[in-house]
Amino acid sequence: MSDPVVVALDVGGTGMKCALVRPDGVAIRTERHPTDAARGPAAVVDTILEVAGGLADKARADGLTPIAVGIAVPGVVDEARGVAVWSANVGFRDVPLRDLAVTRLGLPTAIGHDVRVGGLAEARLGAGRGTGHVLFVAIGTGIAAAHVVDGTAAVGAHGAAGEIGHILVRPDGPRCGCGRPGCLEAMASAAAIGRRYAELAGGTADASVTAAQVAERAAAGEPLAGRVWQEAVEALADGLATGQALFDVATIVLGGGLAQAGDGLLTPLRAALHERMTFHREPQLVAAALGDEAGCLGAALLALDAVRVPDHQEKR
Ligand SMILES: [Zn+2]
Repeated sequence: MSDPVVVALDVGGTGMKCALVRPDGVAIRTERHPTDAARGPAAVVDTILEVAGGLADKARADGLTPIAVGIAVPGVVDEARGVAVWSANVGFRDVPLRDLAVTRLGLPTAIGHDVRVGGLAEARLGAGRGTGHVLFVAIGTGIAAAHVVDGTAAVGAHGAAGEIGHILVRPDGPRCGCGRPGCLEAMASAAAIGRRYAELAGGTADASVTAAQVAERAAAGEPLAGRVWQEAVEALADGLATGQALFDVATIVLGGGLAQAGDGLLTPLRAALHERMTFHREPQLVAAALGDEAGCLGAALLALDAVRVPDHQEKR
């Protein structure tokens, strides 16, 4: 057989990141396509299958052998049945994506949850590489996590493991999107930080700022931004301390938009987490290394796992 590759897609609300990936985890061709979710789920599925089929054809034209397909999607994903159960931003409702892909493409296919496969990639190829037990926490509009042990991400009994954003951290805090007050996500997501700043800035002209701007202003010494940022850091430290009590990981990898604040987030968060450790072993706290390619590489790892190509995982 000529050199094997897998076809990997990371489907988001606005765009799809796609690649052909070798068994050692190196992407050899990358593409981006619009999702255009407003067309409805059937059209989105058609685009996914067309893009995947196109990449498989390009691989063959280059003398490579596509051996499997991996597709990461947001929302609730039943990985065992290969079904995209529910997604707010892509509009999926019980889409049997794996079977559709197998039928159309004739290749073994694996479906994964976007944050879970992103964590898989960071644990095996990125910032958690070589450390065995990793908690990947993506902080963006929401907060979600993936717990990866020896290269496998825990899915949960109902496909819903990793909802660290809904750990209760402030019983009298703001109401979360899930309906309950005080979830971590309602205190420390990028959206929550922007909202909190606007709320405390009150009627002043410049109340509408992003979390990234709050981080910049905090670093520049603005007292209000500093207060909002520190509140978010304390809430995150509470959530991560709970995660560490449960999972005892070696490394916590922070991804998502908020992690782009870099040391402006990591330094105070390390200190706040350190304060909360009693008998716990303190994890390393590091920024994600793969950027927005993590989901696509993780989808590739799922595909490789589905056909058990053995040389993509670092030996431990
Ligand atoms: Zn919640």
